[in-house]
Amino acid sequence: MNQGNRIPGAPIIDHVGIAVNSLPDAIRQWSAILGQPPSGEETVPSEGIRATFFGEGSGRIELLAPLTPESPIARFLERRGPGIHHVCVRVGDLEDALAAAETAGAEAIPPRIRRGAGGARIAFLHPRSLKGVLLEMREDPERG
Ligand code: ZN
Repeated sequence: MNQGNRIPGAPIIDHVGIAVNSLPDAIRQWSAILGQPPSGEETVPSEGIRATFFGEGSGRIELLAPLTPESPIARFLERRGPGIHHVCVRVGDLEDALAAAETAGAEAIPPRIRRGAGGARIAFLHPRSLKGVLLEMREDPERG
């Protein structure tokens, strides 16, 4: 059986993504609560977001704000308001992980494989195929 999508001990939560209207406001509040500043801000034009992360390695918190009114995050904020947007798990081989997810009935959001924050290879599974959860899969940067 192909175990290429498994990491021993997984699932590992790489990060939880939180949609916010204003990155500076959210950074101020989360910095005060977590007692630390975020690691830096990043613009991801392909996703239409500006993002920042608190912490390093697994278990980070990502804040994401829309770059434009057409950004998927802008549409999410309009529909649902600010809040938890997605959960990201680390996977071994992203193709294997996607294939397993699709075999299990999950639906990848096109483009199937893309570059996310930090240049990582990522994919998103549609919330309608996962009981309302938008799941990001991020290829383990330490693999291979
Ligand atoms: Zn994310």
